[in-house]
Amino acid sequence: MKIAVLPGDGIGPEIVAQAVNVLNALNINITMQEAPIGGAGYEAAGDPLPDATLQLAKEADAVLLGAVGDWKYDKLERHLRPERGLLRIRKELNLFANLRPALLYPELANASTLKPEVVSGLDIMIVRELTGDIYFGQPRGISTLENGEREGINTMRYCESEIRRIGRVAFDIAMKRNKRVCSVDKANVLETTELWRQVMIELSAEYPEVELSHMYVDNAAMQLIRAPKQFDVMVTGNIFGDILSDEASMLTGSIGMLPSASLDANNKGMYEPSHGSAPDIAGKDIANPLATILSAAMMLRYTFNDEANALKIENAVKKALAQGYRTADIVTEGCKQVKCSEMGNAVVAALN
Ligand code: NAD
Repeated sequence: MKIAVLPGDGIGPEIVAQAVNVLNALNINITMQEAPIGGAGYEAAGDPLPDATLQLAKEADAVLLGAVGDWKYDKLERHLRPERGLLRIRKELNLFANLRPALLYPELANASTLKPEVVSGLDIMIVRELTGDIYFGQPRGISTLENGEREGINTMRYCESEIRRIGRVAFDIAMKRNKRVCSVDKANVLETTELWRQVMIELSAEYPEVELSHMYVDNAAMQLIRAPKQFDVMVTGNIFGDILSDEASMLTGSIGMLPSASLDANNKGMYEPSHGSAPDIAGKDIANPLATILSAAMMLRYTFNDEANALKIENAVKKALAQGYRTADIVTEGCKQVKCSEMGNAVVAALN
């Protein structure tokens, strides 16, 4: 198993180091090779996705990524900014399916800003389309109109095959879970998502056991806070999924707990925490590494078909939490506040 390790910027190197320690502590045959991406790529090669990094990622079976971005790069031309490296690698590897589980560990019920009875037992899988939508649609840009006023343009577009392949991922996952898919759109005002809804309905004929429902994105945003346990699998486009999955992260206590997987059609994947590079806490060894460690578990499950070791990592995380270890973002009264590296060590110790 060959893994490309791309730590990135900000807290990226700190949290990825912990996930690498956890993978190394398992008795499995893996090779890991590191390369820069994002701001680190720009510093090393003048490109947020250096050719050598892309080559390594293409040759690997899976990619483990930290996060990219730092405010100091905000003034760079758009194509040189760290986030561009991330969008490009997703596109280059054709990672169209982003899986974001939002699962509340019982030990963290008090860390959520919502009442424990609202979130306790929460287990949602958000399936977000990742390579289309308004983030990639053409035309785009900022131009100057004849009257001298500036105008910004982005284009929301999806073709049928793109909708069908992400729908299939969602239905397949639902078959292994509670057999319910909620498709989120804005079909009342956006034609792109009217088509989205039509294709989901057509596809559902192939999955008679799965109950398909539809929800407008504004209502979905509200329902996630009001009664999140009503959801099993949610499937949605790139921009709605971006927002809803961050919202769902707060149900789980902290964005530092949320892993993610981005898969291509052959289950090659890039695995990364759902959060960003958190420049505000970078270099202090206080970030929560659990989202990244849990992303490594997803890597074993979805790319390497190694359910046993995936569960081993997830159980070790549960054990570390049950033992009372908490990073600053999830600490509550009576728990042991630990640093990022100490949390990593606690998970490694719990593996044994
Ligand atoms: P962010 O997710 O980096 O941080 C939001 C808040 O959550 C911050 O207060 C941060 O300290 C906290 N946080 C995030 N991860 C944490 C962790 N593991 N442990 C503890 N606290 C954590 O989002 P932002 O502040 O909007 O963006 C910062 C930078 O990250 C920007 O440059 C942005 O473009 C980039 N970004 C990158 C990705 C990615 O690489 N996938 C995603 C989102 C944002």
